[in-house]
Amino acid sequence: MRAMVLFASGQVPVERDIPRPEPAAGQILIRVKACAVCRTDLHVMDGELAHPKLPLILGHEIVGEVAGQGSGASRFKLGERVGVPWLGWTCGTCRYCLAGRENLCEHARFTGYTLDGGYAEYTVADERFCLAIPSYYSDVAAAPLLCAGLIGYRCLLKTGEAKNLGIYGFGGAADIVAQIAMHEGRSVFAFTRPGDRAAQEFARSLGVDWAGGSDEDPPTELEAAIIFAPDGALVPAALAATARGGCVVCGGIHMSEIPAFSYDILWQERSVSSVANLTRADGNAFMALAPTVPVRTQTKTFRLEEAALALQELRAGAFRGSAVLVMD
Ligand SMILES: [Zn+2]
Ligand SMILES: [Zn+2]
Repeated sequence: MRAMVLFASGQVPVERDIPRPEPAAGQILIRVKACAVCRTDLHVMDGELAHPKLPLILGHEIVGEVAGQGSGASRFKLGERVGVPWLGWTCGTCRYCLAGRENLCEHARFTGYTLDGGYAEYTVADERFCLAIPSYYSDVAAAPLLCAGLIGYRCLLKTGEAKNLGIYGFGGAADIVAQIAMHEGRSVFAFTRPGDRAAQEFARSLGVDWAGGSDEDPPTELEAAIIFAPDGALVPAALAATARGGCVVCGGIHMSEIPAFSYDILWQERSVSSVANLTRADGNAFMALAPTVPVRTQTKTFRLEEAALALQELRAGAFRGSAVLVMD
């Protein structure tokens, strides 16, 4: 099969012909149709996440169809459409798994990081961690739901009942979260890189209440904020814009160092938290919710062999929404 393979940190994935993987017990073989490109893929490539599998096939927002079953795998039929998210395997026995918090599993394996992912014509996945894809979506439109969508959804849940919601970093995840938040009747304030008029225009086109640079003050106090951009300086900026009792949720897997800040902006029961990974329950809940909003994803497609270009454009903020690799 054709695959884009990352051989070492600091390099870009390169096209290789490699043997098609065989599904082990409990796994399914998947013919990949589409795989979205996530900022986490850049963090893995750049060596910002420790101990990736190497060589590695990146990609953890996979949509494909079942092309084979390992022994004991019977959850999906041959030809059925499935999605593969970031959480690829958990131990089921650590204190976090036993407490229903498998997103924090100490032995978890992650698709496109410690397991091979979807920048390839085929992949294998543990069927227990695969998700059914709503029929409302095409393969390409569904791909960004699998990380941008469901990690964003988990971030939104952390903001509780907050009505005025700030979103810092307006890429694929923010696009989806803003649609759900507005559907729930919240007001959304979109913060982009200072001067990024195109991103602000994109946010306005979704119907947000306000869009501006992260160096600007929103017209009203925020009740909660979600930070998707990997810039630690946004944490004190978001805290300063957030009202008493509000929370700032960091949705990325990696962030640059957070600068020191005055206790004043944390005082009055403000809080800062991160969101890590997902549970299967999150995945199922989000996939049920998405078509009822309905969440619409904005995508730019690339051919499999253009993976390095897609990653470069993501880094440069050169497109709106999400990049998706298509295999056919
Ligand atoms: Zn565990
Ligand atoms: Zn991701």
